[in-house]
Amino acid sequence: MMYYQLPPFVRQLHHDYSIEKSQVLQSKIRRRKIVIFSGAGLSAESGISTFRGGATIWNTEQNARFLDREIIEEDLVGFLDFHNARRREMLEAKPNAAHRAIAELEDQYDVQVITQNIDQLHEQAGSHEILHLHGSIQHTRPVGLYGEQFRLPWRKDIGVGELDPKTHRQLRPDIVLFGEQIYGIDDSTRMLAQCDIVIVVGTSLVVEPAASLLRGVHPDAEVYYVNIEHLPDIRLPIAGRQLIGPATEQVPLLTHQLRQALQ
Ligand code: NAD
Repeated sequence: MMYYQLPPFVRQLHHDYSIEKSQVLQSKIRRRKIVIFSGAGLSAESGISTFRGGATIWNTEQNARFLDREIIEEDLVGFLDFHNARRREMLEAKPNAAHRAIAELEDQYDVQVITQNIDQLHEQAGSHEILHLHGSIQHTRPVGLYGEQFRLPWRKDIGVGELDPKTHRQLRPDIVLFGEQIYGIDDSTRMLAQCDIVIVVGTSLVVEPAASLLRGVHPDAEVYYVNIEHLPDIRLPIAGRQLIGPATEQVPLLTHQLRQALQ
């Protein structure tokens, strides 16, 4: 039996054609990727005080010290009390229309949430892929240890003498204090570099290194900033369109437009 070999240029054509065809097919079926980058302003209309601006309980002279890592050694009782109160407030809060609109986008887009928030309102609204850069107040870890392997879900107050069952160390909330390492830098850098659209919502963009992660957004991505007030251009890590107003109005309007764009 004889086999004919195709001349090289014909093989090349066949090869190229099959790649082009599969690329066209892939771009038709590929769902566009949206990254939501959220901050405390997203949960403000759920009744959780933001860190900056308004009547905040976080950033007063008296309370700001509960956010520094040294406080655990200096005043463990005060530290636990302050965050026990924050946990109780966050457990009572319900997701708002903006959290829900973000979760509903998953019908039509691949949505990944990178949040600075330590509440669980994205989860409660139904979002599935959520990275908490600053940890979660509804989780604990042992004092002096860091990482997912030490994390326990936790809903009640934490007391002095409340020990981690495995390491027998004092428990603390699994939140990132000033001076501590944030979670998920590599994963969030990758998500931002690969996305088609970024929606930055309810953040003052002054907390580092979180804000600077946005410098790695894919250069062709569409970028939107949703904030109740205009942000000075100099503070924007990457150029984008500012949508001014409360998150519960602006986010559902924007997600509605993004859904329409696919129809
Ligand atoms: P921030 O408090 O520094 O800034 C909040 C931003 O949201 C401001 O720019 C403000 O203009 C805007 N904003 C306020 N109300 C809004 C609304 N209704 N709609 C749209 N925008 C609104 O918040 P940040 O940048 O996230 O930094 C604060 C840090 O404190 C975070 O790292 C976070 O871990 C922590 N924190 C978390 C929570 C929470 O989990 N809900 C609450 C307070 C503080």
